[in-house]
Amino acid sequence: MDCIFCEIANGNIPGKTIYENDEVRVILDINPVSYGHTLVLPKTHCDSLLECSEKTRNAVFEAAQKVGRHMEDVLGCDGINVLTNIREGAGQTVNHFHVHLIPRYTKKQKPDQLILEFGENDPMDLDQIASELIIKD
Ligand code: 5GP
Ligand code: ZN
Repeated sequence: MDCIFCEIANGNIPGKTIYENDEVRVILDINPVSYGHTLVLPKTHCDSLLECSEKTRNAVFEAAQKVGRHMEDVLGCDGINVLTNIREGAGQTVNHFHVHLIPRYTKKQKPDQLILEFGENDPMDLDQIASELIIKD
């Protein structure tokens, strides 16, 4: 399969690696939205969070936690957004599961161009929505 993140994760194409173990590689995003914008890539391909195995999911989020803690220690950021896009409709451009770690700088002490806005809708029928979404294991 022709997958750029498979190639980077497995070391066949270079990336700016900040952490690596048997399951994941963590690299700097080539087009950072903030200072230290990082991607956690599993070494085994899956299209998105919804397709990945439990092993891959756990490895990716374990690394995300480790890197996030490290970012707080060394970058002087005020917070971190953790993001994974699923499908083109949600902005996924590379169809290999990855988690973004985006350090935030509220005092503009370092570059940060992320705009994340939860706009308001008209009131919705939450009972109706819950009845559509409820999961019974
Ligand atoms: P998505 O939109 O799929 O959630 O995120 C893809 C991210 O991967 C983007 O932020 C983009 O800048 C980054 N990206 C795309 N191609 C490359 C690449 O070849 N190397 C690196 N380091 N990042 C990439
Ligand atoms: Zn891949």
